[in-house]
Amino acid sequence: MSINEILNRIGPSTSSGTLTHEEIKLLLAAEGDDKKLLFDKALQVKLAHLDNFVHLRGLIEYSNVCTKYCLYCGVRSKNPNFERYTLSDEEVIECAKLAHELGYGSVALQSGERSDAAFVDKITHLVKEIKKIDNGSLGITLSLGEQTEETYRRWFEAGAHRYLLRIEASNEDLYYKIHPRDAKHDFKTRLNCIDSLLKVGYQTGTGVMVGLPFQTLDDLADDLLFFKKKDVAMVGMGPFIPHPDTPLWQYRDQIPSAEKRMELTLKMIATLRLMMPEINMVAATANQTVDPQGREKAIAAGANVIMPNLTPNEFRENYLIYPDKACVSDKPDQCQTCLDVRLAAIGHKVLYNAWGDSVAFTKKHH
Ligand code: SAM
Ligand code: SF4
Repeated sequence: MSINEILNRIGPSTSSGTLTHEEIKLLLAAEGDDKKLLFDKALQVKLAHLDNFVHLRGLIEYSNVCTKYCLYCGVRSKNPNFERYTLSDEEVIECAKLAHELGYGSVALQSGERSDAAFVDKITHLVKEIKKIDNGSLGITLSLGEQTEETYRRWFEAGAHRYLLRIEASNEDLYYKIHPRDAKHDFKTRLNCIDSLLKVGYQTGTGVMVGLPFQTLDDLADDLLFFKKKDVAMVGMGPFIPHPDTPLWQYRDQIPSAEKRMELTLKMIATLRLMMPEINMVAATANQTVDPQGREKAIAAGANVIMPNLTPNEFRENYLIYPDKACVSDKPDQCQTCLDVRLAAIGHKVLYNAWGDSVAFTKKHH
């Protein structure tokens, strides 16, 4: 079967839903004109279902204190080479107010993973405080790692309604090549957490890094089928970026070039847009780190969400999950003008002052 035949089966406003593992692999391997056909089709499908709107989530990197030591992440607890910080309540609320003033509509609170009672209480408090801003006008996404179902429920009841927890690798073998094999990093727990989030009622997001050592096209095709099977509301995918203070750094010469990892990420986004036309898909900051035009390219290939960083600048350099992270020194207002201009150049526009919920989720639950 040719790429053309696969793509022709998909109408602009219908979901293919039926892409097989082999067809997905073909799409992920597309080059030259075929690759362009894939990106064009994904854009067409996105515009038919979601229009040309981009939703913003003001990203607040709450803390780089983490109890885990994932083998790819610079924030891992076993990295002593930077200062640990946790924002004060006032700093978090200031960031959220700024998001509101800038018309972002939503914030995303992200952090290293902790699950102690003080942390759980603190997040509950912060979510409630953010909800008080202008009578609950901000939507809240959390990305705080693995927690018990009870914790997820507490935060949901406090007012958070979206949660991002990447599976990182849906293939258990690959999962254990990029995580230590111990009780803190358990594949089944990760899966159960995603199920708990869905059960509690969050708009649940997951995702993977693209271009990891040992990762194959078969793995990536299965990742997309996993997202489809779980029927998640959101997906975030970005290129893997090796960090010198992590164990996976030693494999940096065995992974595709940055350009190839970026291109493969775009093909993952485009293919998933064909499979799940109405989900929210994030153009991850990692795209922009690898390629200055990376976020726009992700939007043009089918993503529809951007997470501009609102973390106070003095802390950003200590939240380096990977090196040379984009926008570490930008000020929020610079960021906004820059985004509007960049998106207009590719025929898209920010939908300000809206939560920008997943259309797929809203249709399913109303
Ligand atoms: N601690 C939470 C968690 O793990 O879900 C949230 C923060 S964590 C830093 C957010 C995401 O960063 C992870 O899901 C992972 O996919 C991504 N990440 C970590 N290290 C990375 C790297 N070296 N390159 C690209 N993305 C990375
Ligand atoms: Fe911690 Fe998340 Fe980084 Fe893993 S990916 S080390 S849980 S911050």
